[in-house]
Amino acid sequence: MRRIFSDYAYGPGPRDGCWWDETIAAPDWPRLSGEVTADVAIIGGGFTGMSAALHLAEAGAKVALLEAETPGWGASGRNGGFCCIGGAKLSGAAMRRKFGAEATDVYDAGEVAAVDLVHQLLDRHQIDADTHSDGETQMAHSPRAMKALRRQADEIAAAGGSPQLLEQHELAANGMNGGFFGALTTPVGFGLNPRKYLFGIARAAQSAGASLFQNSPVTGLSRASSGVHILTTPDGALHADQVIVATNGYSWDGLPDWLSGRYIPAQSTVMVTRPLSDEELQAQGWFTDQMAFDTRNLLHYFRLMPDRRFLFGMRGGLFASPRSETAIRRALRQHFDTMFPEWRAVEGTHFWSGMVSMARNLVPFVGPIPGEKGMFAGLCYHGNGVAMGSYSGRLLADLVQGKQPGLPYSPVVQSMGKFPFGRARRVVMPPAYAVLGMMD
Ligand SMILES: Cc1cc2nc3c(=O)[nH]c(=O)nc-3n(C[C@H](O)[C@H](O)[C@H](O)COP(=O)(O)OP(=O)(O)OC[C@H]3O[C@@H](n4cnc5c(N)ncnc54)[C@H](O)[C@@H]3O)c2cc1C
Repeated sequence: MRRIFSDYAYGPGPRDGCWWDETIAAPDWPRLSGEVTADVAIIGGGFTGMSAALHLAEAGAKVALLEAETPGWGASGRNGGFCCIGGAKLSGAAMRRKFGAEATDVYDAGEVAAVDLVHQLLDRHQIDADTHSDGETQMAHSPRAMKALRRQADEIAAAGGSPQLLEQHELAANGMNGGFFGALTTPVGFGLNPRKYLFGIARAAQSAGASLFQNSPVTGLSRASSGVHILTTPDGALHADQVIVATNGYSWDGLPDWLSGRYIPAQSTVMVTRPLSDEELQAQGWFTDQMAFDTRNLLHYFRLMPDRRFLFGMRGGLFASPRSETAIRRALRQHFDTMFPEWRAVEGTHFWSGMVSMARNLVPFVGPIPGEKGMFAGLCYHGNGVAMGSYSGRLLADLVQGKQPGLPYSPVVQSMGKFPFGRARRVVMPPAYAVLGMMD
């Protein structure tokens, strides 16, 4: 078993400086120790695993979740907090060609249902996660990109939707001044504090009866002659009839075998500034409450949070080491200074990075693991896992119980191929980033 980035990527270095850690203290879960039994074992304590744990516990199953590190340690506790549609990197047109119109429509309905699910969870469990933004706004980074946004708006209107298109001259009045060529708002989604959301659903899962364990990495997966799965950790073993693998960008090749070569972790990097004054907001002309991203392939995502701190993120480094982490943080700052020049003197108080995950077919996977009886997985949301991870966990909870999923479940997310080059598969990343960068 091994992971395909260097050890630095999986240690404290990239996470050091995460703003969310200062906004809410982590709960203290016990370590797994001795022999424990459950109906369902879940590996990974992010949105996918926690949503599965919550929904299974609510359905009356005996669930135990094992997190290798501490609560919120993975991407779910350190992301940008955009709860939005997305999850695939495959374009809508390519998805239709490959999977057909019906499967694509169900997939699209699933993305919307995913956002709705998070909304419902916040509401039902009374989680205050500092939400803001009415949908998500895409900012055109070039005149050509604006033409594409206009076409997209026409398509949305033709399909009966209500696109909110802003031309360049309308941006300043809407508090979106940043050298953009126009904007299109999709009225689905909102921003949130991901750590508050994660800990809120963790609390709800525990209240419903789920057992949550920290510092309990699964180091071995085997099966007793009875067919029961045995998950080994440094201090104990969990015996369970069914297993959900929810490790996404922090997965190990070989845990289980099927996962080897099927995902590519990629880094994303974020900066948060100190709170901005009214004068500073007016000087730059960006004071909208909308969460936003630009039209580049290697995109930037940004939002002014309710406490007036500005969050700005983009793709992370291709390598993981103290040196490359320093370099990507510096590059992030340069991009920020170029896009928001009036804030050049504003301190970025927090910087951090983490791992997302991509699949070869550029769509998420949610379902039973082929050839592994009683094992399920949900992963590869292509950097959009706040809503999709929560939704994936909910689908997995239904599938584990042998139920027809209660949310749209498209064939699009039910298969996952292998990348070439095995453990060396990250060699495809530098040329891919170079091509995407050139296209921008
Ligand atoms: C910097 C950054 C910004 C992002 N911004 C956004 C955003 O704004 N909006 C959005 O939708 N998405 C965003 N994402 C992506 C999103 O955070 C992820 O897609 C999502 O959190 C994945 O959730 P998960 O539960 O599947 O995986 P994770 O949250 O990564 O959880 C996996 C967990 O599995 C644990 N684990 C791994 N191996 C083992 C093992 N052997 N035993 C036990 N535990 C194990 C890990 O410790 C980890 O905590 C961002 C990601 C990053 C890194």
